[in-house]
Amino acid sequence: MIVELISVGTELLLGNIVNTNAAYLSEMCARRGLSLYYQTVVGDNWERMAETIRTALGRSDILLITGGLGPTEDDITKEVVAQVMGRRLLEDKHTRERIQAYMEAYAASAGLKEIPENNWKQAQIPEGARVLDNENGTAPGLILDDGGKHVILLPGPPEEMRPLFEEQVYPYLGELSQEVIVSKMVKLCGIGESSVAEMAADLIAAQSNPTIATYAKVGEVHLRITAKAETEQEARKLLKPLVREVKLRFGPYIYSTEEKGTLEGSILDLLNDKGLTLVTAESCTGGMLASRIINVPGASEVLKAGLVTYSNRMKRKYLGVKKSTLKTDGAVSEKTAREMARGGCEQTEADVCVAITGIAGPDGGTEEKPVGLVYIGCCAAGKIKVKRFQFTGGRAKVRSQSVSAALTLLRECVLEQYYHS
Ligand code: ATP
Repeated sequence: MIVELISVGTELLLGNIVNTNAAYLSEMCARRGLSLYYQTVVGDNWERMAETIRTALGRSDILLITGGLGPTEDDITKEVVAQVMGRRLLEDKHTRERIQAYMEAYAASAGLKEIPENNWKQAQIPEGARVLDNENGTAPGLILDDGGKHVILLPGPPEEMRPLFEEQVYPYLGELSQEVIVSKMVKLCGIGESSVAEMAADLIAAQSNPTIATYAKVGEVHLRITAKAETEQEARKLLKPLVREVKLRFGPYIYSTEEKGTLEGSILDLLNDKGLTLVTAESCTGGMLASRIINVPGASEVLKAGLVTYSNRMKRKYLGVKKSTLKTDGAVSEKTAREMARGGCEQTEADVCVAITGIAGPDGGTEEKPVGLVYIGCCAAGKIKVKRFQFTGGRAKVRSQSVSAALTLLRECVLEQYYHS
């Protein structure tokens, strides 16, 4: 089954928005074991969109089309698809009722007296199409099957498109392919992509079924092991030996084998299981670390406080960093990171504190302390470990790498001090 992706939207062509839908859908198709051979971006123009769809129907089996399903004049994707596939547009009662309920709630909160007329356009459905209810918006997704071709329309906003795809389209794609694909995700931290590639070189060279793919993320490497077979049971059987081997080789670096597992989530689990509390003390990352931790539901069980001590004075006042340390070693130093980590625990009575101090740039660097120099300290069970990093890239990249490195060090210290591993 060949898949083709069509992203609709003039703003995509103008570079006003980044095509994150394409990146997401491509990854999901790879996960499903589907071959995605073509991707096109087309503006909100009838002729060009019709031509793109006709071309795609001529060479691919499944068309995934995102965007242009909204209520405005320039949202024409559904109309163009209906015309190319020779279908009439008919009002779908179920969708009209859903739009009514959604819009009534929205109108009440927005102080609107009535539902704008153009919204009913979204209840017009190509004849014979399967409707995919959109729980996060008014435009439903649609599936049109025709002579072995499958055209799937999805709304443009990622927060609507993704859940709709995951819950309704992904299982549908599974039904279409004769083979069963089973994959296992293994997520690593504390090891670089090149080391992973080296350690898994023989496995990667010998791969056929199952396959093994590596994905480099900021401060992390993800490995996906995928097997294809006629039945799920067979696919799982094929998967097992390679998953076992990967776990054996990368054991201490593995923080999750769950598709949705996050590094911060896995650390909170470790802390929570031992009834431990955490505090973050940040300088150059300005709360990014605390924010990642707070993104995890239930973080309040563990995180006591997220301190952002940007100035030297605040490092002294809230973390007890010594004036002499700041004077002799400077704010970006091994000693300051150590005192920040210790001070975080002492001031808040938390069991564990992770601290970051560094030079994010673009200014502020010197020959001795260049931009990208970051010290990360972690205090766990009274023991303090500090690591020095020299990151590259701009301000944003240095900051995000610092957060990932801090999480990795935090995990390492918690495992050493409380899990004795
Ligand atoms: P709406 O009802 O919001 O109009 P729609 O299905 O018509 O939804 P579009 O109008 O094409 O979708 O896009 C709406 C918004 O969704 C865009 O402004 C953009 O923020 C986001 N969006 C659309 N396509 C993409 C894409 N390919 N990648 C990332 N974001 C996208």
